[in-house]
Amino acid sequence: MIIFKNISKIYENNIIALDNVSFEIKAGEFVLLIGKSGAGKSTILKILRREEEPTRGKVVYKNIDILSIPRRRLSNLRKKIAIIHQDFKLLNKKSVFDNISLPLEIIGKSFKEIKREVNHIAEKLKLKHKLNQIVNTLSGGEKQRVCLARCLIFKPEVILADEPTGNLDPIATFEIIQILRDLNREEGISIVLATHNKEIVDNLKTRVLTLESGRLIRDENPGDYTLL
Ligand code: ADP
Repeated sequence: MIIFKNISKIYENNIIALDNVSFEIKAGEFVLLIGKSGAGKSTILKILRREEEPTRGKVVYKNIDILSIPRRRLSNLRKKIAIIHQDFKLLNKKSVFDNISLPLEIIGKSFKEIKREVNHIAEKLKLKHKLNQIVNTLSGGEKQRVCLARCLIFKPEVILADEPTGNLDPIATFEIIQILRDLNREEGISIVLATHNKEIVDNLKTRVLTLESGRLIRDENPGDYTLL
C-alpha cells in the first residue's frame, strides 16, 4: 500500500536526514519505527503526508505518486494518512467535542451529523463523559485519545504516530498502544509508530524498522526475521 523507494532528504546546511531509505508497507500492517533522536523517524512520517518533500526518491500510496498530488488535494491524502504527535497539537481552550468536530464543521456537515459522528467516535475511545470538558484540563492520556478521535473522524487508512506516548505515564502509554492495536486488528487501519520506548518494542512483537543516522539498518519481523 505504501512504497518508499530510495528516499533521501537533505535539509539546508547539508544535513542528511534520510539516506537512500526504501521499504514497503502492506495494508493492515503494524510497523514500529525506531532509532535514536535525530535518526530520521519524523522525517519519514512527514514525507508520507507530504509535509516535507524528499530530495530524491519516490513515495507511492495506493498506486498514487504522493509527490505528484496537486497541493489543493493534499488534505485528502492527509485525511487518509492521519498523524498523532507527542505534543498533541490540540486546541487547548476548546472542549473535547469542539476539537473532534472542528474538521467536520469546516467541510460543512450538519450539526446533527456532526453530533452523531462525534458521539460514535467518543464512545469508541471512552471519551463520551469528557465531551464537554476543556482540553487543557485533561490528562495526557485523555488528550492523546482526543487526538486519535480527531483522526478517526475522517476514517483514515493509515495512522502515523510520532512518539505518541513520549509525554505519558506507563498506564496511559499502555492504554494508547492498546487502542492503536485494536484499531489495527479490528478496523484494519495500518499503523506506523515511531517510538523510543523499548518496552513497547519488546511487547508488541511486530515488524520493526530501525534507523541510524538516516539509514535504514534493519527491517525485521518477529515472524520471519527478514534482515536487510
Ligand atoms: P527523529 O524523528 O528520528 O528524531 P528527525 O527526522 O526529526 O529525527 O531528524 C533527522 C535529522 O534531520 C536530524 O539531524 C534533524 O536535526 C534534521 N532536521 C529535521 N528537520 C529539519 C529541518 N526542518 N531543517 C534542518 N534539519 C532538520
